[in-house]
Amino acid sequence: MGAYADFHRRSITDRDAFWTEEARRIDWHRPFDRVLDYSNPPFAKWFVGGQTNLCHNAIDRHLATRGEQPALVYISTETNTEKSYTYRELHTEVNRFAAIIAAQGVGRGDRVLLYMPMIPEAAFAMLACARLGAVHSVVFGGFASASCATRIDDARPKLLITADAGLRGGRAIHYKPLVDEAIRLAKYPPQKVLVVNRGIDKDFKPVPGRDLDYAELARQHATAQVPVTWLESSEPSYILYTSGTTGKPKGVQRDTGGYAVALASSMEHIYCGKPGETMFTTSDVGWVVGHSYIVYGPLIQGMTTILYEGLPTRPDAGIWWKIVADHKATVMFSSPTAIRVLKKQDPAYMAKYDLSSLRHLFLAGEPLDEPTHRWIHDALKVPVIDHYWQTETGWPILSLAPGIEPARVKYGSPGFPVYGYDLRLLRGPDGAEATDQEKGVLAIAPPLPPGCMTTVWGDDERFVKTYFSDFPGKLLYSTFDWGVRDQEGYTFILGRTDDVINVAGHRIGTREIEEAIQAHSNIAEVAVVGVADPLKGQMPLAFAVVKDASKIDTDASRAQQEKEIMAVVDSQLGAIARPSRVLFVTLLPKTRSGKLLRRSLQALAEGRDPGDLTTIEDPAALEQIRGALKS
Ligand code: AMP
Repeated sequence: MGAYADFHRRSITDRDAFWTEEARRIDWHRPFDRVLDYSNPPFAKWFVGGQTNLCHNAIDRHLATRGEQPALVYISTETNTEKSYTYRELHTEVNRFAAIIAAQGVGRGDRVLLYMPMIPEAAFAMLACARLGAVHSVVFGGFASASCATRIDDARPKLLITADAGLRGGRAIHYKPLVDEAIRLAKYPPQKVLVVNRGIDKDFKPVPGRDLDYAELARQHATAQVPVTWLESSEPSYILYTSGTTGKPKGVQRDTGGYAVALASSMEHIYCGKPGETMFTTSDVGWVVGHSYIVYGPLIQGMTTILYEGLPTRPDAGIWWKIVADHKATVMFSSPTAIRVLKKQDPAYMAKYDLSSLRHLFLAGEPLDEPTHRWIHDALKVPVIDHYWQTETGWPILSLAPGIEPARVKYGSPGFPVYGYDLRLLRGPDGAEATDQEKGVLAIAPPLPPGCMTTVWGDDERFVKTYFSDFPGKLLYSTFDWGVRDQEGYTFILGRTDDVINVAGHRIGTREIEEAIQAHSNIAEVAVVGVADPLKGQMPLAFAVVKDASKIDTDASRAQQEKEIMAVVDSQLGAIARPSRVLFVTLLPKTRSGKLLRRSLQALAEGRDPGDLTTIEDPAALEQIRGALKS
């Protein structure tokens, strides 16, 4: 048995000893009595009785040995700023931020919603919440007010933290008016809004009595010291909302101790990042990758982390490689879409920089196509590791683990089950195991390992119903992804089993988009499917039936209606969910029992065979779809 296979086996069969060892990687204020309490399946409590704190592990414990080492380097090609914070400076900033938050009456267990651009204050705020034992919920800055309001109502934060504006490609996105609108829409709005005013929005107007100015409060609390609040290991650290098949996003709840251990261990065994080195993760703090590998993971490991605000192509397509070279990054983490963007640029940009510090590039979030994998591998001449995970798991499910044993990269595969995951590939709902080369659904036999979601925020029943009901009679976590395994044990991901699509690595429920489009007054019915896209992996495409056909009877009016529908999606969900096109039909393909033939619709849109149509109610619907696609 290879070293990695043995390591993985021990993590499952000798779980207590394995995770006791891994748990030594972090500081415990009070040691745990028991590795796992699994008395109430599928709810797992890791490191029972232990007390710890994420902020302490990310900052305080490094002060004695690496106080003067850069902890966080903020690079913005939007404002042309570069600012480095040592661990000691980060400690000061986070203490100050924690004092400001605490002065608003926020404490252990209270929620704080963050709607922030990629600025250092976003990381300070997250770490400050962790310090106080407050539960942060970061909402990606690209989401619209209505999406933000849904999350406010679910998390019911005491405080909301935002900035006047974000910047993208030189264009300002005014956050504060979006937040004002979200608060107007919310049933349970926060009492206070803390605003980091960057001076970008010249029309910025604070709401008297509600909005607080960060700069002013930072002066008042300049030298504040806030003691760490020690949390029980299974107390929540954060909530992060993610899309599913229903319109209502789910709050993925993460614990404290299990998460810290999983991250610390992954930094060593998977990412091979050493204390004192630099990690550059190109995600956003609004996504799970940003939580785990921009903020918490590298800091827990005593590394320097890069927080980058800007595009990969501005001022030119060499910017990321310049950052790697300037900061001697040893670990880089990005997404397939970003690499596909760079692949279209002149390769000379890459050759310009000394990238010899880099040991690995990790990619995740969506399928990595072989030509892109091959291209970046050949260009970098270091292993490019595709790895697979979900917001729910917080760290990888499938990966190579070069820290345990170097393994051959196989194009198109994210590798092997990560230690801690008892991964199954199941042929059907009866839970029968798929054989090699046979397609199956990827499932995890619980308990889920440390670091994974512990429940859906405020809704234990939804956690069980959503994730553990795919295989009747068997308690198994469904990833809702198809996979196939080859004879060497490499797993390949074949796409989702549900109606979730993946646009540039971001998960969007087609139902959510349909619900948003329904808000347009002239829509009778709509179907949204994900269609393969060479750059973004998938793009949503909408087929709509209108109530009043006179509004689409000319090319100009049809174009106008399409524009209006796209604007509705922008305002309800955000531009990331905007369909590439809205095509008008008078009939959608459905079964005789009224179920939408989504797979057929998607197949037609991708120019494939629509499959079994014996149950279709009216074949004329298909002709309409074909006609609309041709047009
Ligand atoms: P999210 O939670 O938004 O990151 O989305 C997770 C989903 O993205 C997974 O369930 C997969 O469908 C997809 N995904 C993530 N990483 C990969 C990967 N390396 N290869 C293929 N699909 C991936």
